Amino acid sequence: MLETAGKSLDPADWTAFRKQAHKMLDDMLDYTESLNSRDVWQPMPDDIQAHLRESLTEKTFEDAHTDFMQNILPYAVGNAHPRFMGWVHGGGTPVGMVAEMLAAGLNANLGGRNQAPVEIERQVMRWVRDLFSFPETASGLFVTGTSMANLIGCLCAKTKVLGVKTRQMGLQHSPELSAYTSTAAHVSVTQALDISGIGTHALRKIPVNSNYEIDVTALEQAIISDKQAGKTPFLVVATIGTVDVGAIDDLQKIAALCRHENIWFHIDGAFGALAMLAPELAPRLAGIELADSIAFDFHKWGQVPYDAGFVLVRDGNIHQKTFASPAAYLQRQERGLSANSPWACDLGLDLSRGFRALKTWFTLSVYGNEKLGQVIAHTCELAQYLKSKIEASLELELLAPVALNIVCFRYRCDDTNRVNTEIVIALQESGIAAPSSTTLNGQVAIRAAIVNHRTTENDIDILITATLSCGRKLI
Ligand SMILES: *Cc1c(COP(=O)(O)O)cnc(C)c1O
Repeated sequence: MLETAGKSLDPADWTAFRKQAHKMLDDMLDYTESLNSRDVWQPMPDDIQAHLRESLTEKTFEDAHTDFMQNILPYAVGNAHPRFMGWVHGGGTPVGMVAEMLAAGLNANLGGRNQAPVEIERQVMRWVRDLFSFPETASGLFVTGTSMANLIGCLCAKTKVLGVKTRQMGLQHSPELSAYTSTAAHVSVTQALDISGIGTHALRKIPVNSNYEIDVTALEQAIISDKQAGKTPFLVVATIGTVDVGAIDDLQKIAALCRHENIWFHIDGAFGALAMLAPELAPRLAGIELADSIAFDFHKWGQVPYDAGFVLVRDGNIHQKTFASPAAYLQRQERGLSANSPWACDLGLDLSRGFRALKTWFTLSVYGNEKLGQVIAHTCELAQYLKSKIEASLELELLAPVALNIVCFRYRCDDTNRVNTEIVIALQESGIAAPSSTTLNGQVAIRAAIVNHRTTENDIDILITATLSCGRKLI
């Protein structure tokens, strides 16, 4: 137990506390500095698992920290490590880490009110509004992640087509809605239809072309035939950076179709939207500026520590109408702590919210757009390097085009699905590298998503060598 000052939870001995706090900061800086010499991941041994299931025991502050260092830190997923390539997870930065501590120290609640932290969130909103060339009428806010941001986009689209009255009436007297995305879309798009009450049957999964981009002709035909069947198409969700292969849908064509049909155009740009920071990639996202809403994460390619999702909505008025509660709104004032409307709670589902904006504001300010853009472009160059290594090897085979930073490949052999599934698990358990596996057209692929700013060509070489040696052992 920590000895505290009277009934308060503050320490009785600030000097001792300060010393321990500094040690904790140093330990995390040591961890970050030495990532390369650590295992990417290791499974939790049975005794550690058992320890983590014990009932609550009181500890000193020092002992809790020792417990963390010995029993928690070594058994995390490992996405800070340069050879973590499983799924699209960001690497985090020391700047983001320390900024998170400042935010926790301030303990700001970003639900609203008249305070500077709210202004920081708005400032980041204006920065991304400019990055995506959205108008000044746009609004946006931090959310947990793109899953939540996709839901918010879907709810705004519902308000646009049905009006605010559905917030009271529900969907019982509304027309039958239909929404569209590709078969390569993230599962959170389906979930958004579910949670919004519209239902997943309303979502059409449009086939993709050989580059895993949505087939826009098929999309157009689906919209026409739904209209003929008396349905009301209301939402198209395009993806920048699909989960499996990192494909980018044709945003300009989809935008034109949506405008013609008066359909809400939402973009799931979870990791891909921040490619706008890299001048060599930005032209491939042409049309992003035409979206009605964009969902994306700072915690993936933006390298901000988890979690830091964001949603940007072109028409701030519809955004506010979708969430603001009139009763709460009446309590706002012109001055004092209850001024400064609209608040974040008028634009999303959460009332109490942490200061996610601060670690993002620090990251963007301290590293700068140019440097972050270079990191993003570099991960794509590394993906091309990995692709060239695969193509140069007779034992390996590329399984999908490499649009951005994701490479899907496999070890050539009989019984490929079983062997390649095993290779991925063996690589993860070796601690050397951690790719993930996925299935493309029934074929199991080793998927390397290069997201981390720490990854180098040497890490790619290590991945290739380890993959080949696992494959040879397994056949
Ligand atoms: C990661 C991802 C999501 C989900 O985002 P979260 O931040 O994990 O909620 C959605 N779509 C795509 C394309 C993704 O890569």
